[in-house]
Amino acid sequence: MNDIESLQGTALLAAIEEKALRGEPAPISLCLRLADDINSSQAPHDWNSGLFSAICDAADRVREALHGDVADTCSIVNGRSGRCTEDCKWCAQASRHHTGCREYEFVSDEEYFSTLRANDAAGVKRFSIVCSGRKVAMNDIRRFCDLYRRSQEISGMSLCASMGLLNREELQALYDAGVRRYHCNLETSASYFPTLCTTHTREDKLRTIRMAREVGMEVCSGGIIGMGETLAQRLELAAESRDAGAISIPVNLLNPIKGTPLENTPLISEPEVVLTIALMRLVAPKQTIRFAGGRARMSADATARMLRGGANGAIVGDMLTTIGNAMEEDRKLFTSVGLKI
Ligand code: SF4
Repeated sequence: MNDIESLQGTALLAAIEEKALRGEPAPISLCLRLADDINSSQAPHDWNSGLFSAICDAADRVREALHGDVADTCSIVNGRSGRCTEDCKWCAQASRHHTGCREYEFVSDEEYFSTLRANDAAGVKRFSIVCSGRKVAMNDIRRFCDLYRRSQEISGMSLCASMGLLNREELQALYDAGVRRYHCNLETSASYFPTLCTTHTREDKLRTIRMAREVGMEVCSGGIIGMGETLAQRLELAAESRDAGAISIPVNLLNPIKGTPLENTPLISEPEVVLTIALMRLVAPKQTIRFAGGRARMSADATARMLRGGANGAIVGDMLTTIGNAMEEDRKLFTSVGLKI
């Protein structure tokens, strides 16, 4: 047993923080021990006292040391909505789930450019076209490439894409059109994924992520928490995204949508979300931990604690199928906790 593994509580946290400040990821087993120590030492819901608060503070210091006070912001537009052939249990856009979500094959020029302009004017840094479906076909990729090229004539925002399980040729086409970051969520840990989706595999996702990196793109890959997974599986997701080469890990909260198999899943509690974000920061110290979908249902207090407890990025404006905070409210929120966007 080496030294760090014999520690507990605040002594263990100090040793983990020291390593994380150098960019060294914390082992998941030790993060779980910290979580157990919270449960045995205090009311586990109070993130403003005891070990829970100390973990959030440590995560905040690691964020500050490795990422500074600038939060990374991005926004998305739905390029295609609904009509998906896949069976991801959380998703409103799977056609088999009959959720009544909005359905269209291709975003109109008008909707696309008005969304782009609004985000650009608000100072958002990155802008992504997000498409439902297993993957976007090459013919449609070419149409999206045209949108990306025209975007660069009117906006300096960095361009991202989320278009499913693309191959190298398709990813190269996006790169050539100016896309520099590809988004492909691992969604949940490898150990939990097969219980939630059977129509594609984690290996399919990892293959696309590998190819995106090979054509020169950065990768954004995270997932959804609150789908019945354990804390260990949430931290595994962060570690697996990190190890796949993601530089940004978006964390969405499940929005249990009527008509999906997860519609009756109990909502994940705020303390669980706050703790997950803080421990993810320690597991993936160098990555952007991006608070994404589901933000709107968190209290202001919990959101502020996450932004001073490990998170250093957010999706601003409206999300895909959940209603996000308005961009101006986000700006005020970030400023109030000392972060710039
Ligand atoms: S592949 Fe994407 S759009 Fe289709 S069901 Fe899964 S998450 Fe939803």
